[in-house]
Amino acid sequence: MNEKKQPAEIAREALMQLNARKLLPTPANYQACYNEIAHLPNVAGFPEAPMRQISQALTPRNPDQAKQLGLLDAAIGRRNWREVQEALVAFAASANGSASKVEHAAPAQPATSAECLKNLAQMIENIAPALGKDDERFSALMEECLQGLRNPSADVPGVEAMLASFSPRLQIAAEDQAEIKATLLKLLHLIIENIGTLSLDDQWLKGQIDALLIAVAPPLTLRRLDEVERRIRSVMAKQTEAKSRSIEAQEDRRAMLSAFVESLSTMNESSSVFKDRIEESARQFAQVRTVEEMTPLLKDVIDATNGMVEDTRCAHDRLQTLQEKVVATEREIVKLHLELDHASTLARHDPLTDMLNRKGLDEALAREIASMRRKDTPLSIALLDIDDFKKLNDHLGHEAGDRALVHLAKITRECMRPVDSVARYGGEEFVILMPDTSLDQGIQAMVRLQRALTKNFFLAEPDKKVLITFSAGVALMMPEETGEEAIKRADQAMYLAKRSGKNRVLGG
Ligand code: GH3
Ligand code: MG
Ligand code: MG
Repeated sequence: MNEKKQPAEIAREALMQLNARKLLPTPANYQACYNEIAHLPNVAGFPEAPMRQISQALTPRNPDQAKQLGLLDAAIGRRNWREVQEALVAFAASANGSASKVEHAAPAQPATSAECLKNLAQMIENIAPALGKDDERFSALMEECLQGLRNPSADVPGVEAMLASFSPRLQIAAEDQAEIKATLLKLLHLIIENIGTLSLDDQWLKGQIDALLIAVAPPLTLRRLDEVERRIRSVMAKQTEAKSRSIEAQEDRRAMLSAFVESLSTMNESSSVFKDRIEESARQFAQVRTVEEMTPLLKDVIDATNGMVEDTRCAHDRLQTLQEKVVATEREIVKLHLELDHASTLARHDPLTDMLNRKGLDEALAREIASMRRKDTPLSIALLDIDDFKKLNDHLGHEAGDRALVHLAKITRECMRPVDSVARYGGEEFVILMPDTSLDQGIQAMVRLQRALTKNFFLAEPDKKVLITFSAGVALMMPEETGEEAIKRADQAMYLAKRSGKNRVLGG
């Protein structure tokens, strides 16, 4: 009967009981009377906070349990112990269909829903390419595991056992791959160092080798590997070119040397003929008695001497020509080397600042856009233009202007992250590609560069500090636009930054 009483009625009765029993009207006494009338356990108060904590700690494993958890929350809200009890019992019963199983099954039961198994299979499939296919036993075990996980009627303990034996093998395979990567890197280092020692006399190659050694230092990223590949290709092209040039040069020298030896032997021949003729004349001179007899002999000696002089002159001329040819070839080789250095450097880097040039920028842009689309990450592009650079050139000279550009390049490289690509876009204009960077972060990066320039003055002369400032525009690359279009937007923002007073950064 009491169960049908309304809360207001119970409350009224509780007050009457307080009065009738002459109890002090404290909340505890009131609650005790209320609980008694409502046939509720006589607890001091409803522990709502701890109850909510318990409710939050419970994880529903199926829609039924989710429903019961909702009912439990509502019961706690109503401070209704009976409903709390009912919801908890039903929650436990829904775990596996029977209340008695719940106590031990709930905490240890792994999440083995079909969805979870499917995700697990997908995850294993995703990491499979990174583990390679060299180990056949491992590949077979992985395939077996995948089939087990994809089988909707798989028995859970069976799948668990399979995963338990697969897991340590997966760990070993991953460690193997890491070891292979580290060893390959070491090998790459060794090869690069060796090329470096072979080409000590070539400054361009030495620079490239140093850059390569830095590029292959861990941690390696795909972007850095790409840079390594590009640099190695340049080095190889240069090596091939230099080698074929030096083979040609060797051939030239060999031909000249044999011509020289031939000339020497001709000279030798003519001088031994001359010697024989002079000796013969000397013998005849010893026997002459009259001046008349001497005349033809003298003529012979003069003829022989003239012949010898002529031969010597010819040989001298030939040697002279040969020597000139050697010098010209040497000069040609030096020139070719210089041109080669220049051409290789020009390929992707600006020779003054060593930043990427337009071609290098195009390649970096294509790479970053592809990566942005693949990973769905933002790419910010900044275009900056030095303020009043003409004045700097006019006041300090063009050579100081060049050094100012080199200074800006140095500070920019130090200030930007290694993943950012910095390119010389024009005379005193630069483009910076910032992967994984939002527009706000891109603007902040440019402001940081501005601050770095205020801390690192350009020293035009030992005691002449010059502050270089720039105006920049930053654009966030849109998914469908081209790199040129994004750079154009950055350029428009930079133009606005110039118009609004220079030395500022605006978003495009
Ligand atoms: P603003 O603030 O509006 O950009 O003015 P500015 O003087 O920097 O701009 P402007 O484009 O009129 O001049 C750029 C100057 O940069 C002109 C050119 O002489 C100079 N310049 C371009 N390339 C080089 C270079 O390689 N070395 C040097 N020293 N100067 C260069
Ligand atoms: Mg300009
Ligand atoms: Mg300028």
